[in-house]
Amino acid sequence: MEQQKTDILSLYPEELEAEILAMGEKKFRAKQIFEWLHVKNVDSFDKMTNLSAQLRARLEEKFCIKSLFVCKTLESCTDNTVKYLYGLDDGNHIESVLMEYSYGNTICVSTQVGCKMGCRFCASTIAGYKRDLTAGEILGQIYTAQRESGRKISGVVLMGIGEPMDNYDNVVRFLKLLSCPQGFGMSLRHVSVSTCGIVPRIYELAELNLGITLSISLHAPDNAERSAIMPVNDRWDINELMAACRHYFAKTGRRISFEYALIDGHNDTREDAKKLAALLSDFVCHVNIIPVNKIKERSFTSDRKAAHRFQQYLNELGINATVRRTLGADIEAACGQLRREYEMN
Ligand code: SAH
Repeated sequence: MEQQKTDILSLYPEELEAEILAMGEKKFRAKQIFEWLHVKNVDSFDKMTNLSAQLRARLEEKFCIKSLFVCKTLESCTDNTVKYLYGLDDGNHIESVLMEYSYGNTICVSTQVGCKMGCRFCASTIAGYKRDLTAGEILGQIYTAQRESGRKISGVVLMGIGEPMDNYDNVVRFLKLLSCPQGFGMSLRHVSVSTCGIVPRIYELAELNLGITLSISLHAPDNAERSAIMPVNDRWDINELMAACRHYFAKTGRRISFEYALIDGHNDTREDAKKLAALLSDFVCHVNIIPVNKIKERSFTSDRKAAHRFQQYLNELGINATVRRTLGADIEAACGQLRREYEMN
């Protein structure tokens, strides 16, 4: 049987160096290779032109660059949003979305193929979970989009397909590689990690104090409503989640962002706003209201008018809240929907 090749994009500089030294090569070669991968973002060993043909052939034998190929690109006509459907080397698909803001280009990346969490309004979870992405595959989404679009990417949000805290080790490795000064060198102040509330991982992440912004997908002001739309709430309820958030803020000093997908008839009344304000009263935080994106398989709806009304309720109660700007409305496909449609055809 052919020996499994090592996923080279997932290696830390010191790990790559150890591998290169073990091949009998000089230390500086590891530095050159790391730079080709993470600064120049090449997708093949052949393009590493300052290495000998012999070394490139040896690298090819031992390692693979898990490249992503673009299966489909959707470009918005109204703004510069681009959605990429990527194919992976095992035939799976994931999505990324490149968005343009006044302060730069931000990309939304996937962390798993599918998702186990079962949130009722989310398309990513309907067909279930297939596998975790490696750190290299998460990085690859950024590097490929940057290559394809010719646009410099300066921010990342982990809000694509998958639950980042359910793929914790690879996500932490990805964050460390992304911010590595010898590599892409992105400041983690420009990175948001979103979670549906895997409480023990929030405590672990607090210990690392990486400087990222933590986004909590809250979506409901009490346990009854949250459990109705998010099964994860039955495992760790709102009180446990809020305690973890308090701890995270105390440990890192980073303001937490709460995501609130507004759904007609579920969580959008003044009473809901009051409960939410009470829940967040002692927090330094920000609430991001998102009118729920319609997905074909579910009947949940909302609109921007309702979102602005809810924002008004919260602001009157002293809670800092905004309605998320809609980007790429003409190519709109709720989280995970592009992949789902592609795989069903
Ligand atoms: N699993 C992570 C990150 C991926 S989803 C999490 O739950 O946070 C990114 C965000 O989009 C989450 O806040 C998620 O709840 C939200 N989301 C998913 N489907 C949505 C939909 N149909 N409409 C609005 N927001 C949605």
